[in-house]
Amino acid sequence: MSIFSVPTATLGVPRIGRHRELKAALENYWSGRIPADDLLQATKRLREANWLEQRDRGIAKIPSNDFSLYDHVLDTAIMVGAIPKTYGWTGGEVPLDVYFAMARGDQGSDGEACAHGCHGHGVAALEMTKWFDTNYHYMVPELSADQTFGLCSTKPLSEFREAAALGIRTRPVILGPVTFLKLAKARGSTFDPIALLPRLIPVYAELLQQLSQAGARWVQIDEPCLVLDLDAADRIGLELTYQRFAAVPDLNIMLATYFGALGDNLETALALPVAGLHIDLVRAPEQLEPVARLSRKDQVLSLGLIDGRNVWRANLPAILDRIRPVVAGWPLDRIEIAPSCSLLHVPIDLELETTLDEDLKSWLSFSVQKMDELTLLAEALVEGKSAVAKELQASAEAVQSRAASLKVHDPLVEGRLLAITEPMRRRRGAFAERRDLQARKLGLPNFPTTTIGSFPQTPRVRKARSAHARGELSYVEYEAFLKQETETAIRWQEEIGLDVLVHGEFERNDMVQYFGEQLAGFAFTKHAWVQSYGSRYVRPPIIFGDVSRPRPMTVSWWQYAQSLTDKPVKGMLTGPVTILNWSFVRDDIPRNVTCRQIALAIRDEVIDLEAAGAAMIQIDEAALREGLPLRKSDWQAYLDWAVDCFRLASSGVGDGTQIHTHMCYSEFNDILDAISAMDADVISIETSRSKMELLDAFRTHKYLNEIGPGVYDIHSPRVPATGEMVDLMMLARQRLADGQLWINPDCGLKTRGWDEVRPALINMVEAARQLRAVA
Ligand code: GLN
Ligand code: ZN
Repeated sequence: MSIFSVPTATLGVPRIGRHRELKAALENYWSGRIPADDLLQATKRLREANWLEQRDRGIAKIPSNDFSLYDHVLDTAIMVGAIPKTYGWTGGEVPLDVYFAMARGDQGSDGEACAHGCHGHGVAALEMTKWFDTNYHYMVPELSADQTFGLCSTKPLSEFREAAALGIRTRPVILGPVTFLKLAKARGSTFDPIALLPRLIPVYAELLQQLSQAGARWVQIDEPCLVLDLDAADRIGLELTYQRFAAVPDLNIMLATYFGALGDNLETALALPVAGLHIDLVRAPEQLEPVARLSRKDQVLSLGLIDGRNVWRANLPAILDRIRPVVAGWPLDRIEIAPSCSLLHVPIDLELETTLDEDLKSWLSFSVQKMDELTLLAEALVEGKSAVAKELQASAEAVQSRAASLKVHDPLVEGRLLAITEPMRRRRGAFAERRDLQARKLGLPNFPTTTIGSFPQTPRVRKARSAHARGELSYVEYEAFLKQETETAIRWQEEIGLDVLVHGEFERNDMVQYFGEQLAGFAFTKHAWVQSYGSRYVRPPIIFGDVSRPRPMTVSWWQYAQSLTDKPVKGMLTGPVTILNWSFVRDDIPRNVTCRQIALAIRDEVIDLEAAGAAMIQIDEAALREGLPLRKSDWQAYLDWAVDCFRLASSGVGDGTQIHTHMCYSEFNDILDAISAMDADVISIETSRSKMELLDAFRTHKYLNEIGPGVYDIHSPRVPATGEMVDLMMLARQRLADGQLWINPDCGLKTRGWDEVRPALINMVEAARQLRAVA
């Protein structure tokens, strides 16, 4: 052993527990089955297990305060007392009930509005949105112009002490004040939250002081905003903040940046008076050289070398070769080895996967395996490669086996990709021609009514699915049950007079998983949960190989549904960009290549649906906007290939076949060129909560294709009245031509109950009748 070693850090680890203990504890508490004390005890056990595991795996800089009951941004809001008045908090220690009211609303709704967390829950909850470009969602702090702050929770302190009691001196993790303010929203949006920084800094400084007094020598302050486009106020804010923090005695700050390159913020970051800087070298390997060259030599450099955002095993010898020349001039005692970002975004332990393909398993690495990779790298840096030769060789061999495997590479798919031609990305006729042809073929009334695809996933449906999964319900029985549900849905839609029907998606567990399970190149895990938000976890598919569609995926369901009715039934698919964005993606080929492969597979399905007789096919791109890169300068490139993939998926059909798409959000202003370029015949969007104002953008943009602006907010249990929906459509008519407009809800209805859906859709159909009468 050398006299010193290169420390390793995790920056943060998953909170949910190997067996989702956190979810169980939270749900038991929320439903009143256990008291608060039991919940807190359960979380204490989780934290302790995490600390001990990290220690045992050789992690030197063990974090604390990376744990959260629900969300770390919410924790930060509570910590600084940013609690809107509506939650009834009057000072003192913030009660758990206030915390959970901010997280979930106080109506006891369980917040399952959207499978992927794209929407908030109960009315009183804070809004929720994506954490940078991950699929983790945080609670958006809400600040007022006269906002004051105060140190209202000492969670970082008590967790530091909790670990200290185990004999572990941790490095507390705190979300930095500048990033916190940039993630927050201004109530009334009349001011920039960053203006509140001078009031916030002293609260943080007080906390740092207390941590220092409690014995903390280092804190990790996360400022991922340093990889975003910043303006002068943000930069000055960072300087002010860290100058003040530098005055806290006996405390070193590791400033953590992640999810991308510092880019034009490099100088700002390097000028901050902090003792250490963490950089993401997975997303932005090119920044190692300039950062190493330009940073102060008394600073500790934390190298984010292991991918904290993806599940692949690293090529350790290759990493060592890459960094060695650059760090050669750097004192080894001022280097740390870390993942690119906190391990929050990867599953916990690969060893739990006992049924995964053995080859695939050997190519993967989850949170605890990544810790082992970190310690190996650190050891090799100090002792030389020969000290851990066997382990390094195993790492390189896994990568080589993956690179050569026929499970990964399908020459047919690779050949098909090369054979993509221009006409494959274009509908044959222009929209106007298609519209006329489709109008003649379909004979729909003005303001046609439809829904977005799914009908309620009732407990009955879910029970049948899990009984089938457990082997207690045969496939024949399960299929008969689903057919029955489908038939009921079709009959009911006919009865209430909807114009375009859907089969209801009863057979789908999830809009991505359902397709992934039928596509080659996808794998699914049993226990690889990652947090989506709060107590909601997902097991994203792992795309490990070239993607293709061995056989039709939805055709027989569509055929069955269409056989029951003379009204048109829409074929219903998830688009390539959405499938990509909600999966763990390969790191051996560019994302856009995988996306094109998925696009070709969806294209096959679209063509088969048309051949089976479908006159309308909907390709949902719920996550297209979500995939936008963090930096504006990268948007165009992403949108170009995303649109290209949609077009590839949708353009294999004749002009008489109507392509629909659906997007569940209400921000289009900045991506309307891309939306137009998708050239869907009909797009349905979320508008009910924005009073149709967002249609202005479509109008100024001279958008000609048809649009279904959602008139029914499916995120709320409220049943909209006919008059309300008529009023919304009248607003839409002020902006777009009657011939362009469809009437539909904002999104799918899977999270609602039939008792809400039935009257709402009856009212919606009536709204269409009233409109037709006045138009
Ligand atoms: N067709 C899907 C549904 O109705 C669309 C959902 C979505 O885009 N989030 O459930
Ligand atoms: Zn939607």
